[in-house]
Amino acid sequence: MGLEEKLPSGFLLSTVEQAAGWVRKSSVFPATFGLACCAIEMMTTGAGRYDLARFGMEVFRGSPRQADLMIVAGRVSQKMAPVLRQVYDQMPNPKWVISMGVCASSGGMFNNYAIVQGVDHIVPVDIYLPGCPPRPEMLMDAILKLHEKIRTSKLGVNAEEAAREAEEAALKA
Ligand code: SF4
Repeated sequence: MGLEEKLPSGFLLSTVEQAAGWVRKSSVFPATFGLACCAIEMMTTGAGRYDLARFGMEVFRGSPRQADLMIVAGRVSQKMAPVLRQVYDQMPNPKWVISMGVCASSGGMFNNYAIVQGVDHIVPVDIYLPGCPPRPEMLMDAILKLHEKIRTSKLGVNAEEAAREAEEAALKA
């Protein structure tokens, strides 16, 4: 009997997936994308007191080409929305988005024509973070939850991503 027959089905793939998941979640690089007051807390999270570097995230990248996480920190104005989408499109796959604070998630107190009422109208969001502003501990908690999602996600075609792309294509049609 060959080795493959002795191993439970899917053994090798699941092991590679687990290793890749662990590597991916340990090297997530956020894009620098502060929009309002929430960004102050985001910057604090990256500083020495909270030390985001412990989780493999010490460098906020200046170029979207080098980033795979967008933390939308603050309210999104209508004018900024296309820029945000362009930055998102420039990030390589796989990529993730955290909506930080009530303004980014729903417009918050800015229920008016100038502010997008939720960044999920512009980009797909993986984690919504409540608060005004959320404290660094809350952002770190959201990041760790995202890490867990990344660690357990499947390799290859990302079903969630494919569904999002199909949804977006349908919206454009
Ligand atoms: Fe500012 Fe609060 Fe809105 Fe964050 S949620 S951008 S802290 S008003």
